[in-house]
Amino acid sequence: MVGASAAGLSTAEALRRQGYQDPITILGAEADPPYDRPPLSKQYLRGDWDADRTRLRPDSMLDALGANFILGDPAISLDVDRRLVRSAAGRELAADAIVIATGLRPRALPDQAGLAGVHVLRTLADAAALRADLSNAPKVVVVGNGVLGVELAATARQLGCAVTLTGRQAAPMESQFGPMVAGLVAQLHTTEGVELHSGTAVTGLTPADGRVTGVQLAGGDHLPAEVVIVAIGSEPVTDWLAGSGLRLDDGVVCDSRCRAADGIYAAGDVARWYHDGQRALLRLENRTNATEQAACVAANIVGESHSYVPVPYFWSDQFVTKIQVHGIQTADAEVTVVEGNPADHRFIAHYRRDDRVIAVLGWNMPKQIRLHKQQYLT
Ligand SMILES: Cc1cc2nc3c(=O)[nH]c(=O)nc-3n(C[C@H](O)[C@H](O)[C@H](O)COP(=O)(O)OP(=O)(O)OC[C@H]3O[C@@H](n4cnc5c(N)ncnc54)[C@H](O)[C@@H]3O)c2cc1C
Repeated sequence: MVGASAAGLSTAEALRRQGYQDPITILGAEADPPYDRPPLSKQYLRGDWDADRTRLRPDSMLDALGANFILGDPAISLDVDRRLVRSAAGRELAADAIVIATGLRPRALPDQAGLAGVHVLRTLADAAALRADLSNAPKVVVVGNGVLGVELAATARQLGCAVTLTGRQAAPMESQFGPMVAGLVAQLHTTEGVELHSGTAVTGLTPADGRVTGVQLAGGDHLPAEVVIVAIGSEPVTDWLAGSGLRLDDGVVCDSRCRAADGIYAAGDVARWYHDGQRALLRLENRTNATEQAACVAANIVGESHSYVPVPYFWSDQFVTKIQVHGIQTADAEVTVVEGNPADHRFIAHYRRDDRVIAVLGWNMPKQIRLHKQQYLT
């Protein structure tokens, strides 16, 4: 396993559940034992959880797995024919099967390098640095109004910061949710005191004495800030695979069984595989996919032959609102509220295309959304 996080660890665990008894090595770039990322923008950043509570498994369970963990040593190349991974520390690890689970790295603004007060969020170290910078309730600008930016705006606001959320989308998360639900997300944030500057691009950051002082918008507005959080999307970590011969195109391109080459698989955020049901290459960036795809990869490694055809699921927590989505929404889908009422902050919406439900969204309705998923999507 290359990558010691949700997908890498879950593949190892699934292999053991399948009865695989041969040696397993898990190589990870980060020195921390495997931890979970969703709490980093929520419970951990708010200070409700300490770092230990974000761990995916306690030591006893990692020991019971009987895997060789090599942490703090990134892979730097892969020899596909010999199934051999080389690491930065000079290790050469050969295996019968290799699973690429190296996840994503956040995109940065061109002028943010080395500027104090500017943050991205992917790792526990990123979250610790951001948490420290938010502790004095500074004036915060979040750049990027996708799912991560929206969650970070909510958490910073809960910490008492004055928060402005800006991004290219006309309303927060509009490209994912469509205008109706995105309008409700905007309303939620405005009610909680987040200032929105939607539908606008950031042209740069303003510095003074090595520290950020604000964000310059395309329309000419300047948003003053003591802390800027950049959440403008991420890129699959595939640079270490350059020259390997694998097809790299917005992720590691795989067949329907998550196989990139003979004996080489990919799982989690980095994997772009052929979804038989959608008849298209798909790459998902959500926590549930990391576990489910890992289980499919493990089954295929031990000799089964499964196509990976999940009904995707993700959730997002913003203030006290939980939004859950099953299925694959598209921008052109027709959205209808079928249960509850947005005015009561509890509802289920169906996303339809060609007269078929393609996704269901629950807003503070965790029990009901499961039933809708079962009824309409399985
Ligand atoms: C702040 C935050 C909040 C999130 N909240 C939610 C949420 O609410 N709901 C949801 O569904 N999803 C959420 N997600 C997404 C979810 O966490 C990811 O989908 C999940 O972590 C993917 O797991 P992964 O193992 O594929 O990738 P990652 O978790 O990114 O793990 C990849 C691992 O590979 C390591 N690595 C990278 N390069 C190398 C290398 N060359 N050699 C060895 N190791 C390497 C990395 O250090 C990392 O540990 C959130 C993500 C973040 C960052």
